[in-house]
Amino acid sequence: MKISPITTTVDFDRNGVQHGFLKLPHSHDASGWGSMMIPITVAKNGEGPTILFTGANHGDEYEGPIALFDLAHTINADDLSGRVIIVPGMNYPAFQAGKRTSPIDSGNMNRVFPGNPEGTLTEKIADYFQRYLLPLADYVVDFHSGGKTMEFLPFCCAHVLDDKEQQSRCVAAMEAFNAPHSMMLLELEADNMYDTAAENMGKVFIGTELAGGGSATATTVAIAKKGIRNILRHAGITEGELEVADTISLDMPDQSCFIFSESTGLLELCIELGAKVKAGDLIAFVHPIERTGLAPTAYHAAIDGIFSGRHFPGKIAMGDFLGVIAVPM
Ligand code: ZN
Repeated sequence: MKISPITTTVDFDRNGVQHGFLKLPHSHDASGWGSMMIPITVAKNGEGPTILFTGANHGDEYEGPIALFDLAHTINADDLSGRVIIVPGMNYPAFQAGKRTSPIDSGNMNRVFPGNPEGTLTEKIADYFQRYLLPLADYVVDFHSGGKTMEFLPFCCAHVLDDKEQQSRCVAAMEAFNAPHSMMLLELEADNMYDTAAENMGKVFIGTELAGGGSATATTVAIAKKGIRNILRHAGITEGELEVADTISLDMPDQSCFIFSESTGLLELCIELGAKVKAGDLIAFVHPIERTGLAPTAYHAAIDGIFSGRHFPGKIAMGDFLGVIAVPM
C-alpha cells in the first residue's frame, strides 16, 4: 500500500515534550499548495508504555478536546515513564466547523476505518491512525460525547471482545478511568470504527460518551480530566493512586436497548436521563406538528433498566435515535 501523504513535524522517539502537526496536503481554492495542519503533542520519557489520546473524532463533541488541549499544555515529560501521544482534534476540519462530520468530504471519522491513503481527506487521516499511530500505542483512549444530536449519562466504555483476556484488560482500564458510569457498549455498526481497528490490533481500548448536546459542562470536563489522570496512572506512565469514586456498571445486552423514532415531529420526553424504567414504561411522545387535533405517538421501554441516552434536539425525525436503556450489572 502507498505510504501516507501525511507527514509529521514531531519525532515519536525523542524524549521531552514536542508540540507539532500532522501535515496533510490539501489543495483548494484559497491555498493551492496548502496543507491541513492537525495539532499533535508527543511527550516521552525513557522506556514504558505508550498511550494514544484522541478527541473530536466527531467534531461537535467537546470534553475530549478541552481536556486534551489542557493536558498537552500542562504535561511535563519528567513526570512520565513512557510516551503520551495527544491528538485533541482527530477529524480536524469537522472540529473546526463544530460539526460531527467533515465539511470538506462529509467524512464520518468513526465510519471510515481502516481508511485509505489515496481516498478522501477523512480516509487519509484514518489511514494514518490505522498504519502509523495505532501501532505505536499500548493504550488507546478515544473521547466522545453525544454531539449536537444526542445526550448520554456520562460513561466510559469497553466492548465485548472475542479475546476475553484482552476484554478484561479493556474493562480494567474502563474501571480505572472511573467515570460515573461504566458501560459495556453495544455498537450499532462496529465494522469501520476506530474502536474496532484498535481492538483488532490487540490494543487496550476505551472510549467515552460524556453527556452531549454540542457543548460541555464543568462537571463533564472534570470527568474527562480525572479519567486522563487515572488512566495514565493505571498504565504506569505516571505515578500516584487512582482517584476512585462510585461508578454504576451498565450493560447493553442486545438491540432491544435502543429506541428509534418511527415518526417525525416534536419530542416530549416523559422521563429524565438516569431514571429507572420497567419494560412497558412510557419513555416519550412524538407530536405531529402539521396540524392540531392529532394524537402523539407513544414510545415505551422494551426492557427494564436505566434511561442512559436520548435524542437531544427538540424535534425528531423518522429513523432518529430516540433513546437507549442500559441494564445495571
Ligand atoms: Zn462521537
